[in-house]
Parts: sequence; C-alpha cells; structure tokens
Amino acid sequence: MPSSTAQHSSSASGSSSSTAPGAASPAIREILASAARGEELSFEQAHLLATSTGADLAALIAAADQFRRETCGDTITYIVNRNINFTNVCFVGCSFCGFGHGPNAPDAYSHSLEDIVAKARAAWNVGASEVCIQGGLPRDLDGYFYRDILRAIKRALPAMHIHAFSPMEISYGVEKTGLPLRDYLRMLKDEGLGSIPGTAAEILDDRIRKQLSPNKLPVARWVEIITAAHETGIRTTSTMMYGHVEEPADWVRHIQLLRGIQKRTGGFTEFVPLGFIHDKTRLFRIGGARPGAAREEHLRVHALARVLLHGAIPNIQVSWVKLGLDLSLDCFAAGANDFGGTLMEESISKSAGATFGEYVSPEEFRARIRSIGRAPAERSTTYAIRNRFESEAVSASATAQPRPQLAPAESRVAHPQGS
Ligand code: SF4
Repeated sequence: MPSSTAQHSSSASGSSSSTAPGAASPAIREILASAARGEELSFEQAHLLATSTGADLAALIAAADQFRRETCGDTITYIVNRNINFTNVCFVGCSFCGFGHGPNAPDAYSHSLEDIVAKARAAWNVGASEVCIQGGLPRDLDGYFYRDILRAIKRALPAMHIHAFSPMEISYGVEKTGLPLRDYLRMLKDEGLGSIPGTAAEILDDRIRKQLSPNKLPVARWVEIITAAHETGIRTTSTMMYGHVEEPADWVRHIQLLRGIQKRTGGFTEFVPLGFIHDKTRLFRIGGARPGAAREEHLRVHALARVLLHGAIPNIQVSWVKLGLDLSLDCFAAGANDFGGTLMEESISKSAGATFGEYVSPEEFRARIRSIGRAPAERSTTYAIRNRFESEAVSASATAQPRPQLAPAESRVAHPQGS
C-alpha cells in the first residue's frame, strides 16, 4: 500500500479536481454557490451534484473541501476506542452480512458480562476513552442484557464513554422488555449509555431495505428511535451504506432525511459513509449488488455529504476499515475531517471481506494526518478535543502507552457494516 503523503494530497485533488472548479457547468456552479450561502438544496439540485463527473465533480470536491475548512479548520480528529462485538449470534439474516451466525454454528460466540468488562478495562488501560458495543440479535436475548452491560462497565469504569446499541438493538430491547421506547431509552441513559451508533441505517428507503434485509426495522422506526434518543438527551452518529444496489438518488434522499432530523433535534454528532464490502456477502453473490464503490464514487459520496449537510452536521467521518488508510486520506481532501476510532478489535467488516485490519495506533493516525499537512487531534465521542499534539515530542510523553495486547479470540470477525 503506497504511503507517500504528497501522493495523497495530489491524488485527492488530482484526477477528480485536476480541472479547475471554474470549468464546471453553470448549473453546478450555481448550486454550489447556493449551498455556500446556506440555502437548502432541492432534490433535483442535489441529484445533479450526486451524478456529477469531470469538472463538475472536481467543483463538488473543491466546494466540500472549502466547507470542511470553514466548519472544522485543518484539524483531523480521531478517537482512541475499542469495538466490543459481544455476540455474533443473530436471526435477522441481512444479505450484506458475513458476521451473523446461527446459535449452533461452530463459530458462534457470546461473551459474558465478565468478558465484556475485561475487554473494556483492557482498552481503558491503554488510553481508550470510549467502547463501542454492538452485537447480533439472538432469539433468546434478555431485553435487559443491554442495561446489564452498561451497569457492569460503569461499575468498573465510571468515566468510560459507552457508545452502544444500534437502533435495531434498541428496537429489539423494547420488544423484549415490553417497555415504552422512551422509558427504555431513559433506563439505558440512567445506567450510563453515553451515545448510540446511528447504524442499521443502510439506505433509509423501505424499497431498498427489503432487498438488503427484509427483517430489519423499517425507515419510520429507525427515525422514531433516533429522534426519541435525541429528545432524551442521547446523541447519535449517522451512517449510510453505499456501493451495493442503491443509486445516487437514494444517497440524496437518505442524506436529506438526516439533514431534516438534525434541523429538528441537533442530536447527530457526525455522518459516516460506509462503503459496501462485497466479498463473502449473499447480497453480492446472488442479490445483484455492485462490488462496492470505486475511488471516484467514494470521493463523490464524501463530498456530497459535506455539501448537503453543510450548516447541519459538522463532522464527516471516514471509515478506514472500509476504505483503507490511503483512500481515507484522499477523502480528507473531499470534505471529511475525522478518522474515526483506533478500534482495536474490528471484526464487522472483516467478516464481509475487508482487509484493512483491526487496529491503527494513535501514533500512526497522527503520522498519516501530518503526512497530508493537517493537524491531528484526539477527541472525545462528542468531539471535545482531548489532546492537540502540537509536537510529536509532547504527544509522545503525554500518551506513551503500550500497543494493545489482544487476546487471540479477538481476531474473530464481528458485527457487519450496516448494523
Ligand atoms: S447486520 Fe447485524 S442484524 Fe443484520 S444479520 Fe448481521 S449481525 Fe444480524
């Protein structure tokens, strides 16, 4: 994997933006000027951006880069965190998922509360400020198990931020306990839930969701849960899985739906485009999906998100697990400003065939960020800056810590891309 930085800066603005933005068509120039003035774009305007090529795409990427600079400056943030995928037993059967197993499968596993706490403690001991907890949906799950996970971790590590449970899991917990949604969310918040991953979104269109995962919660329920979480004081991320059976019009509707929610609640911390990893998935083998996005499409989606969410959701995160580090760096010249987490354990995408590993050290994040002339900063889940690393000499003494030592079992695959 080439790692030269100059190569990244020039390639990010290279093939796509080698043509000056001024060469873009009058229609695209007017749409981007309108977005810069903070005006809402219509579906038709946004769709023109989403299908842009050549000089028009270069102009979209240049505008996204400018909006990122105005909103976030030249800092690229990351978080030291750990994924804990506590079970891979799942009945839902999403066609893009290589992670879920039947309860009797030889590779099926379920971690005990003690194991989960031990993993969280190990992460804390090497400097993690967050654990991200998601799992499959076993038929026999106790609806209070999610509460018990929070209680156990908070008892051991009161200051650890727990970012946990997709809207699908929240919906399942509500169904299992019979509690009203808002009571269930309040219970989780009282037990230490810090924020919720806005996963299980895939594409927020019921027609597409039927193709991807007919057993997954419908769009209206996803929106209801996310909105209720925000109104309960629980912030969430937002995501979109692209590069499969969807079309640019679906990206636009999805992102505009998120923008509408954000205008009402202000509860999203970030938007994370998740490129579809096609290997080993039923969706690719027999579902007619594309084999993921190519480089230009990755850049287009990140730039489109920055422009359509300008003035609403301030942070666009790359998923390095899906993109790899080189393409992630390219996306930092197309509107993205956040590297996501060190993860330490990431079997979700690996299960679908991603090959980009399970862990990136904070030192490597910082080196990669500096290599494209940007300033690295470690952040909290909600984007408070924890350390700016004015010089690596300072950061080295401030954060000297061993690389995580992972138990062999943690190299197993975990919870997949959409959910
Ligand atoms: S994506 Fe999540 S909910 Fe869907 S089958 Fe896989 S583990 Fe289950």
